[in-house]
Formats: sequence, structure tokens, C-alpha cells
Amino acid sequence: MEKEREFYERLEARGVTRRDFMKFCTFLTATMGLSASFIPKVAEVFASPAQRPPVIWLHFGECTGCTEAVLRTMYPWIDELLLDIISMEYHETIMAAAGHQAEEVLHDAAEKYKGKFICVVEGSIPTKFNGAYGKIGNRTFLEIGKEICPKAAAVVAIGACATFGGIPAAKPNPGGYEAVGKALGIGTVNIPGCPPNPINLVGTVVNYLLLGKLPTLDNLGRPLFAYGKTIHDQCPRRSHFEMGEFVEEFGSEEAAMGYCLYKLGCRGPETYNNCPTVKFHGGTSWPIQAGHPCIGCSQPDFWDHMTPFYEEM
Ligand code: SF4
Ligand code: SF4
Repeated sequence: MEKEREFYERLEARGVTRRDFMKFCTFLTATMGLSASFIPKVAEVFASPAQRPPVIWLHFGECTGCTEAVLRTMYPWIDELLLDIISMEYHETIMAAAGHQAEEVLHDAAEKYKGKFICVVEGSIPTKFNGAYGKIGNRTFLEIGKEICPKAAAVVAIGACATFGGIPAAKPNPGGYEAVGKALGIGTVNIPGCPPNPINLVGTVVNYLLLGKLPTLDNLGRPLFAYGKTIHDQCPRRSHFEMGEFVEEFGSEEAAMGYCLYKLGCRGPETYNNCPTVKFHGGTSWPIQAGHPCIGCSQPDFWDHMTPFYEEM
């Protein structure tokens, strides 16, 4: 009770009302595909978490855009909500330690929480030349991944690079960059996107805390609650996809094409993600709403398979 009171006081100090918070919990519960009866339980996970699972967040070959997405978008306070329900033991972007001290923190946390921590990995892993294309503290990403990931209770690959290789693995890929699961030969929960929507990471962690298990995954390791439908199936422009309808509404085929973005190379029909329903920037908008075709960023090898982006499929 005391913890819960403190939690709401902290939210209020940041200008977030209890009503805003409950709205967020309703939205998250719906995003996770759970019934409305779970809303109070989801709120409880944030307000008085029974345990805060330790998390080790590794950075490999990437641009840190996924971290930026988690820390800076959706709501001004989603990062703090996330940090309320997990115990971030190691994260190079936000930690104060550096150099040998940081290396020690990583090693100690992996030993202390062996078999209990969630390892979130951002970025792909170079495998050619014994992994020489990517190093931290004179150790290759490959060595670090092989040491840390097998000790985790679960490995969550976040972003296009960690899940499927992303831009570092695009042709000609001289460093032999590979997805985390493939490079290390392990199973991963995959949250792809460039960047991924932070709500899908939050949903995965809350699912783990609420139900004691990871969410149901598709055949590519993606949580079904987020990646169960194509962009096209959920797209508000879809009613104009049928040629007859949009020609009728816009007067000519040429004018109608300005509405549905298919002719501009939209990859929505072959891309699985929940962007149309969760959107970005606090639910303000998403690429297709803003007039840009989907480029298929949550599909495997999108940089090779979906290009050239502005040509019809
Ligand atoms: S804009 Fe893209 S996702 Fe939307 S209806 Fe057209 S092809 Fe489908
Ligand atoms: S609309 Fe398509 S390209 Fe844009 S973020 Fe969503 S899945 Fe990625």
C-alpha cells in the first residue's frame, strides 16, 4: 500500500495523473491482447511490483536508436515506468561507470543473477575474422555475447539489427554480421523494428511479470500480440486500396493513388507489426498516417529484401 502511494506521488510529481496512468494501463492491456479484467493487474505490476527482475542490456553493432526509442518516445514518462518495474543492472548508454569499472559491473551482474536476469540485446554480431569487426574493452561482441547470453533466463533481441541482422548485415556485409540468435546459436524473443515501438518491449516484460512466462511467439520469434497482423490488414488507408473505391472517391486513378501508398512502394501488405494501432509519439501518428509508405522494417533482412523502397512491390 505504502509502495503504491509513493508510486502515485512520484507520477504526480512528474505531472502524470492517476487517470493518465490508468489510460496507459488500459492501452497496454489491449496491446498485449488481454481482456479488460487484467487492467488492475497490469496497473499493479507498475505500482507495486512483487519483484523487479534484473536486466542486462548489451549494445553490439547498431546505432543506439532502439535505446533512444525506449528512453525518449511514447510518453515522457515511459522510460521511468519501465525502470520502475525492472532493475537495470547494466546499460552502457545510461550508466555512470566506464572502462574497467563498467566491465566489472557487467561480469559481476551476470554472475550474481545467473539464470535469473533478462538479457536485452541491441545490435547484430560480426562473425567473420573471429568477430574482429566489433569490440568493447578489447573483447569481441561475439565473446561478450557467448559469455553473457547463455547465463540469462531469457534473451530479448530488440530492433531490426539484433533480431534479423539489420543494416549492419545488409549486402555486402564484409564483417559477417548476424542476428543475435543466429550468431550465438540460441533462441531469442524478437522485437524487430527500426526502431521498434517501446510499448512492445514493455508489453513483453509486463507479460513475463504478470503471467510468469514470455508471450506467445510467431515462427520468427516475435510476440504475437504485436506482430500477429500485417500493417496492411490494420491500415486506415485500406478502404481505399480497392481500385474501384478510390477511383470513385478521388475522380481518377492518378488522384486516388495519392491516398493508398501501395504504388509508392508501401510494404504494408508483407510487413507484420502493430504500428497502425499503437502508433508513435504518445499515439500521435505513424509513418503511413504521416504520408510515408511502410518500408518493412520489422521483416527479416528488410534492407536487402524491401529495397528499392519507393518502387511498387
Ligand atoms: S498504405 Fe500500404 S498498408 Fe495502407 S492500404 Fe495502402 S498498401 Fe496497405
Ligand atoms: S510503418 Fe512499417 S516501416 Fe514504419 S515503423 Fe511500422 S513496420 Fe516499420
